[in-house]
Amino acid sequence: MHNANLNNIPDTWVVAYRAADQIQANCLVGLLKHHGINAHLRGESLSGAVGELPMDALQVEIMVDKADFVKARHIAMEADSAVLEDDWICVKCKETNAATFDLCWQCGHDPQNDRE
Ligand SMILES: [Zn+2]
Repeated sequence: MHNANLNNIPDTWVVAYRAADQIQANCLVGLLKHHGINAHLRGESLSGAVGELPMDALQVEIMVDKADFVKARHIAMEADSAVLEDDWICVKCKETNAATFDLCWQCGHDPQNDRE
């Protein structure tokens, strides 16, 4: 079955990450967009064909343009390990950071400085 054009995804787009479920995928797409990367989910539209299955049984692929792949991959891996941990909010710029980030990704603020 060839369904590469199912979501009108251009040929230059590649799979950056395979999310365990729809919720994680949507979170990551939001995160990528926050970083200026345009991302698409592939797998969503399959829900019609496999309506008997619960959505969390589907693996959702996150597609990005090849040019954004390395950056997207990095963000995805950071986000992946942070899913079960607590995010922290930068006191300086109020940006939410993944627990794995030592410094605020937005402004470079070091949260260790807040605790002393
Ligand atoms: Zn900050």
